[in-house]
Amino acid sequence: MSAQIIDGKALAAATKAEAAAEAAALKAKGIEPCLAVILVGENPASQVYVRGKVKDCGECGIKSLELRMPETTTQEELLAKIAELAADKTVNGILVQLPLPKQIDERAVIDAIPPEKDVDGFSPVNVGRMQTGQPCFLPCTPAGCIRMIESTGTKIDGKNAVVIGRSNIVGKPAALLLLAKNATVTVCHSHTANLKEICANADILVAAVGRAGFVTGDMVKPGAVVIDVGINRGADGKLHGDVNFEEASAVAGYITPVPGGVGPMTRAMLITTLYRMSGSPAVTGENPYSDVPAGSYYEKAVIWAMQKGVANGMGGGKFEPDTRVTRQQAVTMLYRYAVKIAGI
Ligand code: NAD
Repeated sequence: MSAQIIDGKALAAATKAEAAAEAAALKAKGIEPCLAVILVGENPASQVYVRGKVKDCGECGIKSLELRMPETTTQEELLAKIAELAADKTVNGILVQLPLPKQIDERAVIDAIPPEKDVDGFSPVNVGRMQTGQPCFLPCTPAGCIRMIESTGTKIDGKNAVVIGRSNIVGKPAALLLLAKNATVTVCHSHTANLKEICANADILVAAVGRAGFVTGDMVKPGAVVIDVGINRGADGKLHGDVNFEEASAVAGYITPVPGGVGPMTRAMLITTLYRMSGSPAVTGENPYSDVPAGSYYEKAVIWAMQKGVANGMGGGKFEPDTRVTRQQAVTMLYRYAVKIAGI
């Protein structure tokens, strides 16, 4: 294996630490961020996802409301609940866990969530604003993918990026975000001809297909950054990505594992979006992609500093959210480290 692993857990931990510090700063100003999660029915996977989101909120000091509705819930009942939460000033973000029972029209539900509380970034207004480069809330999985690519130090600008999959929640927005970062983007899907050749030319390859081991070693350009979004439960009961990890990691420069890659990062990005919704100063910036920090050394420096115990996040006056680490901050971290190890 030659590829370096992009550690989704470490990046997610740094992202959540940032969110926790932001949430604490908001609380000090009397604002308590709150996420409302609606789960309709008994889908076991959905129950796990919702539990994970509620747990993440708790770990970051963010309030969450878990609202369970029965499998037999009608569309009118669900829309009424959303309207209630939309009008509730103490609720900042609303998330309806998908999929929904078949009597409910998913699109109508997504449309009913006000864009300013649309923590998933699926509403038509947020999608449209993302497409036109205006301030918006980004969907968590693709925003997390961008963060992971940038964490490697790879400049997206000018690169050939290939996204396999064109779903509204992953493939299409991932392609748009890569385009916004000036990549030359190709979107592949189930009707694409010469898929292998196209993928083998990608400097950045994002796989969001939903088929275990779909991307084989011969589809990976040597040195490429490979982001595996897929989560597929195998016959062995384990989770498998869309990428054949063993083959691809022998060729790629960087690769995300499954589990421990895009999954944790997606969850962390949800919390980031929530604090931005809750009125954090980081929200007010005009850069629509402000939750995708530009410099990988920034991520790396902060992760390193947190692991060494010489910094505890990007808030609390130590770091500005969503800006690069300044020379002064870097020197301060080094000094603290030196004090810690050498006692100077
Ligand atoms: P989807 O089923 O909506 O879309 C799959 C896409 O893959 C489609 O656009 C389809 O055209 C394409 N595709 C299917 N077969 C193909 C083939 N043979 N060749 C080329 N393209 C093909 O799935 P989705 O919701 O986008 O999710 C994709 C995967 O990502 C799933 O495994 C899902 O579980 C996972 N996922 C993970 C996260 C996370 O947090 N890690 C989040 C969302 C989705």
